Amino acid sequence: MASENTATAASTDAEVADEPESALETARRQLNKAASLIDADPNVVGRLNYPASVHEVTIPLERDDGTVEMYRGYRAHHDGVRGPYKGGLRYHPDVTREESIGLAMWMTWKCAVMDLPFGGAKGGVVVDPKELSDAEMERLTRRFANEIRNLIGPMTDIPAPDMGTDAQTMAWIMDAYSVQEAETIPGVVTGKPPVIGGSEGREEAPGRSVAIVSRELCEYLDRSLADTTVAVQGYGSVGGNAARLLDEWGADVVAVSDVNGAAYDPDGLETASIPLHDEVPGAVTDYGEQTLTNADILELDVDLLVPAAVGNVITEANVDDVRADMVVEGANGPITFGADAVLAERGIPVVPDILANAGGVTVSYFEWLQDINRRSWSRQRVNEELEAEMLDAWNDVRREVDDRGVTWRDATYIVALSRIVDAHEKRGLWP
Ligand code: GLU
Repeated sequence: MASENTATAASTDAEVADEPESALETARRQLNKAASLIDADPNVVGRLNYPASVHEVTIPLERDDGTVEMYRGYRAHHDGVRGPYKGGLRYHPDVTREESIGLAMWMTWKCAVMDLPFGGAKGGVVVDPKELSDAEMERLTRRFANEIRNLIGPMTDIPAPDMGTDAQTMAWIMDAYSVQEAETIPGVVTGKPPVIGGSEGREEAPGRSVAIVSRELCEYLDRSLADTTVAVQGYGSVGGNAARLLDEWGADVVAVSDVNGAAYDPDGLETASIPLHDEVPGAVTDYGEQTLTNADILELDVDLLVPAAVGNVITEANVDDVRADMVVEGANGPITFGADAVLAERGIPVVPDILANAGGVTVSYFEWLQDINRRSWSRQRVNEELEAEMLDAWNDVRREVDDRGVTWRDATYIVALSRIVDAHEKRGLWP
C-alpha cells in the first residue's frame, strides 16, 4: 500500500515546518487535552505519555534469489493496566518506532472505550509487502514471529492484522509460535482464518463498526440515512465493508477510492458490484461515472466523509477544503491535531477512529474468547454482539457529548481515559 501522506501537516512550535505530524505527537496531544478536561491525576497521565516498553528486532530474510536482506521490526507496548497487550502488526515502508508507539497508545484508548480487558500495543516491519513474493512474506513473517516469541502469547500480547498484513499473516505467526511451544495455541493472534480458530465476521468488523457509528451519528443529528450522501477514501477491509453496509442500509454512497483514485457517481454507486481492493487491486477506478483523485475525494460536497485509507490525510493544508457535514474516521489517525481543531471550530462532528473502527479489536476479543473456550460462534452471534458492544460504547460517549458539550473525540477520550486512570489508581505504582 503506497503512502498517500504527501500533504504537509500542522506546524506548531514543537515541529519543524513541512514535517508530517507523527502518530505519537498526535496521540500525545489528544491525551493531554483529554486529561485536562477531566482533571486526571498528572502522575498517571505523565506515565501514559510514554510506552511501557518498545522492542526492536532485526529480521534476516533470504530472498528468492538467495541473497539475505535485513529488515527492522518493532513491537511497542503502551499500557497494560486493563489486561494483555493487544493491537495490530503493520507491514509498511513508513513503519517507525515512533509510529508504533503512537498507534499502541490509540489501541490503549480503543480497548478502554470498548471496555475490553486489553491494553494497547502495535508493531510492524519496515517493508513494502508489494516487493516480496508470497514465499518471502511467509519466511519474513515466521522469522519475525520467532524474534518476538518471548513477548507475545495469549495472556501477554496478542497481535492482529493491520495495514499490509492479513489473515494469512496471522496464520503463519500462529503456526510458528505453536510449533515452538509444541502445542496449538490459536489465542496468540486474532484475525486468523476461521478454519484455524479465526472468528466469523472479523474481517468485516472494522467496516461494520464504522457503518454502525455513521448510522447512529445520523440518527443523533436527526438526519435520515436514506438522504445521506457518503464518500469513502480507502476501499479495503475497513472502507470497502463500511461503504457496502451503508449502501445496503440505504445511504447514497457516491464516491469510493483506493490508492489509484476514486470512482464517483453523483447518483450513487453500486458498491456490491465493485470488488474490494484486496479482491481486485485497482478495480475501483473502472467503475462510476467519473474518476477523481484520492485528494479530491476528501473535498467532495457530501454529507458524510469516511477517511479509511491511511493516516494524516486531512491536515491544516487541506482542512479548509473539506465540505462534508460529518466525518467518521475509518483509518487510524487520518486527521492531524491542528486540522481536527479547525473542524471542531466549524462545528463539523468527527467520530474518532478509536470508537469508529473499534469493531476490529472488539471481534478480535470475541475471537480470543472463542479460542480460549475452544468453541466457535456463528456469524449472526458475532454481528449481534458487535452491534450491542458498539451501541454501549456509543451511548457512553454520547452521554459525555450531551453532558459536557465537548466534541465526539474529546468525549471518546474522556470515557477511555477515565477507565484507565481509575484502573491505575486502584492498582497503584509498585514498588
Ligand atoms: N489493527 C486493528 C486496529 O487498529 C485491530 C487490532 C486488533 O484486533 O487487535 O484496531
